Amino acid sequence: MYDVLIVGGGLVGASLACALRNSALTVGLIEASAWTPEQQSIGYDDRIIALNYGSQRILSGLGVWHQVDQQATPIHHIHVSDRGRFGFARLDHQQLNIPALGYTVRAKTLGQALQRQVYQHATTQLFTASQLTDWQTADDGLLQVTVQQATETVTLKTRLLVLADGGNASLREQLGIVSTEQDYQQTAIIATVTMSEPHRNVAYERFTQHGPLALLPLSQQECSLVWTVAQDKVDEALALTDHELLQTLQQQFGWRLGRFERVGQRVAYPLKLMHVDSQALPRTVVIGNAAHTLHPIAGQGFNLGLRDVASLTEAVFAAVREQQALGESDFIQAYQRMQRPDQQRVIRLTDTLVNTFSNDWLPLAMARNVGLVALDGLPPLKTWLMRQMAGLHGHPSRLLRGLPPL
Ligand SMILES: Cc1cc2nc3c(=O)[nH]c(=O)nc-3n(C[C@H](O)[C@H](O)[C@H](O)COP(=O)(O)OP(=O)(O)OC[C@H]3O[C@@H](n4cnc5c(N)ncnc54)[C@H](O)[C@@H]3O)c2cc1C
Repeated sequence: MYDVLIVGGGLVGASLACALRNSALTVGLIEASAWTPEQQSIGYDDRIIALNYGSQRILSGLGVWHQVDQQATPIHHIHVSDRGRFGFARLDHQQLNIPALGYTVRAKTLGQALQRQVYQHATTQLFTASQLTDWQTADDGLLQVTVQQATETVTLKTRLLVLADGGNASLREQLGIVSTEQDYQQTAIIATVTMSEPHRNVAYERFTQHGPLALLPLSQQECSLVWTVAQDKVDEALALTDHELLQTLQQQFGWRLGRFERVGQRVAYPLKLMHVDSQALPRTVVIGNAAHTLHPIAGQGFNLGLRDVASLTEAVFAAVREQQALGESDFIQAYQRMQRPDQQRVIRLTDTLVNTFSNDWLPLAMARNVGLVALDGLPPLKTWLMRQMAGLHGHPSRLLRGLPPL
């Protein structure tokens, strides 16, 4: 019998397993891919994640940050502009008195560090190459879940089920979880680009008539490109030769970082908004992309998922301390009170940014430029927005304050 069963060992599920590793709780992790200590990169792709300052603190509290910080690049400034128009805004870490607004790191590097922690502490029972396929409430009120392994089916019982499966639509449907979805009809093309001038730890977000284009700092002259392209232009964009793509990017981005010299392999991700309407299943909490899949325009998806982990960990340890039953409705409500406002704020903010900045209708384009100028000249509004983007408006859990969870 488990106290907590986590479904999904992606960045979010693995972070939760890490957060619970030093407790006396019985924790299980069910992961569909074949994680093994020898093949620790399986399940994580080459995407670059912009971690905000709040996430850096959570990872420090989890004891994982020191394993990735040598490979992370700090973001000291963010420069936001609209191609061909007057509006721009600059965000600077000194305005918040923090060492960096965030850091870029490879998802793979972070995933490997999290997996190492889970393996080293061996307190989590791992079910790898295994999939949750069904659940039901048992006679004693606990949850009974069915897990399909290569050749056998096992049944496990748990007080609390945490779905961190990344937003698998068929599983959601099967379990009867109600969600709202909006297809943005856009695809993100990501690639590493080499510039002729150093980025000086500036992240750029540039809105163009083809869609938002972000350049995130990596090594000295390398940046991670996230180029959002309308659905009907994706094939064309992917078919460009490297030379044509470099020229297009140069035209769209300009010369702030000199010449676009080289572009690496391109990977395309179709974009949508999905969020679960309520956490309605008994004894179940949905976190990370399974609870909210966001457009990467503001780089908030994993950052929010990590705050789900921080708040859920806080709720779990509070329940243990106060001898409350894990997974019962008081527990679920306590977690929702901590995390729902943060989730709603980030979903709204990201969706507003997508709708405002992916539209080239002239009045709206003018309004957003006025907005950018106003933002640059209104310190309280700017500070609020910067704190939000830095992840500092979340529930002030121990982890978000950079402390170990217990
Ligand atoms: C182009 C792009 C750029 C991005 N940039 C940023 C950024 O800069 N900053 C940021 O914060 N976020 C960013 N994101 C978002 C971020 O990548 C995601 O929010 C994050 O990776 C989600 O992690 P997760 O663990 O919730 O889901 P996933 O990574 O999808 O993991 C889910 C796991 O569950 C497993 N699974 C699925 N179904 C089952 C089942 N039935 N049983 C068992 N296991 C199962 C899967 O194998 C997988 O390992 C970006 C996203 C994209 C597409």
